[in-house]
Amino acid sequence: MKNPLLSEIASPTFDRPRQRMVNDQLKARGIRDEHVLAAMSSVPRHLFVDAALAARSYQDCALPIGCGQTISQPYMVARMTELLELKGQERVLEIGTGCGYQTAVLSRLCRRVYSIERIEALQQRARKNLRAARLANVMLKCGDGMEGWEDYAPFDAIIVTAGGFASELWLQQLKPGGVLLLPEGSNGSHRLVRRRKQAHVIAEEYFDACTFVPLLRGVNHH
Ligand code: SAH
Repeated sequence: MKNPLLSEIASPTFDRPRQRMVNDQLKARGIRDEHVLAAMSSVPRHLFVDAALAARSYQDCALPIGCGQTISQPYMVARMTELLELKGQERVLEIGTGCGYQTAVLSRLCRRVYSIERIEALQQRARKNLRAARLANVMLKCGDGMEGWEDYAPFDAIIVTAGGFASELWLQQLKPGGVLLLPEGSNGSHRLVRRRKQAHVIAEEYFDACTFVPLLRGVNHH
């Protein structure tokens, strides 16, 4: 094989831990959407963390990805993806690319993912990881996600993977009927909230309590 990454993707070493993750952490806790389960079964999570952490990549926890940030726990990635109720044709905006793992899962379930990361070093790593995982329907940029991504708006869904309070621009950049999903709250105490943009009102539903790294303003070029 010319490209060593191809053999890495096909590596059976991680097939079993990944299947166990899907059964024990996702199905057992109520993730039901078959498409989400299939995406979580196929995306090679171990390619999105440092080689030194690969052996732990299917464990039931968040892991460090550098720059003080984390790759979210598998359950949380699956839960948030399920709450978006994707059908396959959507254009999705993600705020907080991190290592690109959630981006990869989304890219299996919708038409295109637009993802913004404020830390340049992470954005570059995510680009490399997504290429290694052979995922192409993804556009990345380094920027402040609080501003959304006007050039490609409106979106069918917006998912925020850092905790805080919503920017007003996000709802503006959603299509009618579109959903915004974020971990809302402060000081590491968040709750998933889904807001649907309806004709005259915003419908709001609250879900799991959770803890995310903070949503911050501005761009970090290191
Ligand atoms: N989805 C990621 C989770 C990464 S943690 C994964 O699967 O690994 C959340 C990320 O949000 C961090 O990388 C952090 O730098 C980023 N972030 C925080 N505030 C942001 C903002 N305003 N705009 C863009 N990214 C932001």
